[in-house]
Amino acid sequence: MSQYSNWIHSLDYSRYFFEKAGTRRIRHHELTGYLVELTIDPIEKRNLGSSFEQRAISHFSWGKGPVSILMWSQMHGNEPTATLALLDLFNFIHLEKKSEFLTWLSSKITLHVIPMLNPDGAERFQRRNSLGIDLNRDALQFTSPESRFLKFVKDEVNPVWGFNLHDQNPRYSVGSTPNVSVISLLAPAFDSERSDNPVRIRAKKLAGLLRQEVESRVGAHVGRYDDAFGARCFGDNMQKWGVSTVLIESGGWYQSPDKPLIRELNFRMFLTALNAIASDEVDQASTEPYETIPFNGPLMAELKLEKVNLGDRRTPDPMLERRAHNPVTVDLAINYPPMMDWVTGTERLVGVVADIGDLSPLKAMATMDFSAYLIEPMKGNFMPMPVTTDVIRRSVLEGYDTFFYPSATDPKRLRSQLAIGVSLFREDFFSEHHTTSLLPGERASFRILNPETREVLSIWINGFEVYNRDSGWKKGEPWVMPNRVKALEVEL
Ligand SMILES: [Zn+2]
Repeated sequence: MSQYSNWIHSLDYSRYFFEKAGTRRIRHHELTGYLVELTIDPIEKRNLGSSFEQRAISHFSWGKGPVSILMWSQMHGNEPTATLALLDLFNFIHLEKKSEFLTWLSSKITLHVIPMLNPDGAERFQRRNSLGIDLNRDALQFTSPESRFLKFVKDEVNPVWGFNLHDQNPRYSVGSTPNVSVISLLAPAFDSERSDNPVRIRAKKLAGLLRQEVESRVGAHVGRYDDAFGARCFGDNMQKWGVSTVLIESGGWYQSPDKPLIRELNFRMFLTALNAIASDEVDQASTEPYETIPFNGPLMAELKLEKVNLGDRRTPDPMLERRAHNPVTVDLAINYPPMMDWVTGTERLVGVVADIGDLSPLKAMATMDFSAYLIEPMKGNFMPMPVTTDVIRRSVLEGYDTFFYPSATDPKRLRSQLAIGVSLFREDFFSEHHTTSLLPGERASFRILNPETREVLSIWINGFEVYNRDSGWKKGEPWVMPNRVKALEVEL
């Protein structure tokens, strides 16, 4: 423990939250602007690299101490949580630069930070860089300029410690528990035998301290990431090069796609780590808190509707010779992967059927008992005339969920005029025979009925309720889609 441990642990995070960067879809030019604002004295810009598409990648440093620490974030473009937390850390350094703690810390360590190592990927909100290369599989060949920059900085500053900052699939459970993995930690292996040496043991001790910090705030929600040796991966090679490296994976949290809590946990882990490294806390620690972290378990569903009576009153489909069937009782799992809204360039969540049938072994972040209701898939396509909120609402009540607009219409304008969360496609994609179903991979659109009276109680489109008998229409924005939904892949 240092004399500052308690002070750090009880910090009011809201004072340091850098609120301008409020969204996970942070663009490179926005980050650049924030960094100009935050990285003034005593934070220095040390090296400037550039991506394959010539976007700037910056290396900042702070402190004058003998222990060199390197943190890099967002080598996967669609994994921004730690980048935002690094802005909070810079904000903290900025606001507390005269504090006793930072005066002490800056005499012990020198912190090196590369926020957003993959700006081209971040611009597209995709994992890989603009060449399609996964930077975390490029630590042997260094084909990409981004990988070369990370290696260059590592060689220059010769860090004792490394922090490899990522987002994982947000639906991992912790071991066999029903708890979602909010943070996963790993002291990566440096060989395929997963051997230990002093470099890795030190990383394990520190990861154990980070586990305790997170669990003191959210309980048993920390998982251990897969520890198989990845010969081409940066974390594993850093460990091999003698840098004690900790992988921090930001996971998921209940009904929280924007992850504000996880951003805060990152910020708190950074301070815990810097304090522990600068004091004797890591040396004093045991590896046991790390070695007993349960590995990430099976993926959970985001929402599970149990004992659904699934009926079908859709128009018969002559292409498929499909006819309506009598109700069957099933469980229905829905996930909400992000989808790029091509009109606004923003991230939207789309509720997609993940599985259907007997889902008793499947854990879910939220569960609802649907045994009292009958649900029916929506009927599918409709070309409204004119395309107005009122006309669309009437069609939704009749069971349609997917609408088409004339190709001469400006989709941006249309989107701002309509106040309902339906799917809109350009008319070229109209297909008379397409109907919505609740098969895995399809958008989760259905009506909820009273099974006796068949009264419509509620209507869900793309996993969200748009209408409720008691409270009326919910305000929402339509999803404008170029063609069929392609949910953005969440890779690891
Ligand atoms: Zn990643």
